[in-house]
Amino acid sequence: MSQLRRNPLSGRWVAIAAERAARPVDFAPRSDPPSDPDRCPFCPGHEEQTPPALETYGRDGSWLVRVVPNLYPAFDGSEAFEVESVGPVFQQAPGAGIHEVLVFSPDHLASWADLDDRQTALVIAAVRDRMEAHAEQDAVRYTQTIVNHGREAGASIEHPHGQLLGIPFVPDELLAEMEGFAASTEPCLLCTTVAEEEAAGHRVVLADDRVVALCPYWSATPYELLVVPRHHEPHLAEAAPVDLVAVSRAVRDVLGALGRLVGDAAYNLVFHTAPHDSADRFHWHVHVLPRLTSVAGFEAGTGVLINIVAPETAAADLRRA
Ligand SMILES: [Zn+2]
Ligand SMILES: [Zn+2]
Ligand SMILES: [Zn+2]
Repeated sequence: MSQLRRNPLSGRWVAIAAERAARPVDFAPRSDPPSDPDRCPFCPGHEEQTPPALETYGRDGSWLVRVVPNLYPAFDGSEAFEVESVGPVFQQAPGAGIHEVLVFSPDHLASWADLDDRQTALVIAAVRDRMEAHAEQDAVRYTQTIVNHGREAGASIEHPHGQLLGIPFVPDELLAEMEGFAASTEPCLLCTTVAEEEAAGHRVVLADDRVVALCPYWSATPYELLVVPRHHEPHLAEAAPVDLVAVSRAVRDVLGALGRLVGDAAYNLVFHTAPHDSADRFHWHVHVLPRLTSVAGFEAGTGVLINIVAPETAAADLRRA
């Protein structure tokens, strides 16, 4: 099991998960031939190479989406989140929780940008179902769903997949956003953001009656996008299917535009939703974070990112693509 340690300088938790170093790295650089589907643990026909599936979606005996436990979990088990002090500066807690892999296509070379309408609906339904399952676990306070695409974004296996990490505390990134909602004089920070961005117009990339995708005013990295369902709902797991599907398709469509604009770039998808037991103000959303530049010393030292593409330009480029 991994161990959580608190950095007393920043107050942030770090997960020490040395077992994860043993995981296979078969991600080929994009310039090389693609990794070999014959050796891929996530390809159809290789189901025995992963633990038994927690959920499968599909029909006629073949799966289209498959959720399996991560063989190299960063969080595992049901131990209570009890912080133990080891002297005046060292604090630790068990790295309990859940770590799952969501294989979101049987096609080894597909990406979210390639999914058809039915597949986008299945993938987001799987995310929703797993969030609901995580919410029932006492050890899990928050579930982070992510997709890492490309080696620069941290992917270790090329086959299209996401991860769900159910963790025993509410992480700082989410706490900061919750404080943003709480500090705003608006009833909902993101409902108002959508209204203000639509009034301004020039940072909106796509919009329909369910969802808006935009390059936010405060974009910190080139072509960063925020995908927000119009219907106000704190918890992804409580969202209506029509909104879930609209968000999943909007993510697909902006990733398609990004690919046409900059090629097969690395990116992270980050799904933010309220903590499982929280009734605080929040509005679930998805961050699309292309990894086109690397974080350098100033950014590492200050947390202040320098964005070399204005979001107004980014949105215009993405709309054209
Ligand atoms: Zn594969
Ligand atoms: Zn809202
Ligand atoms: Zn967020």
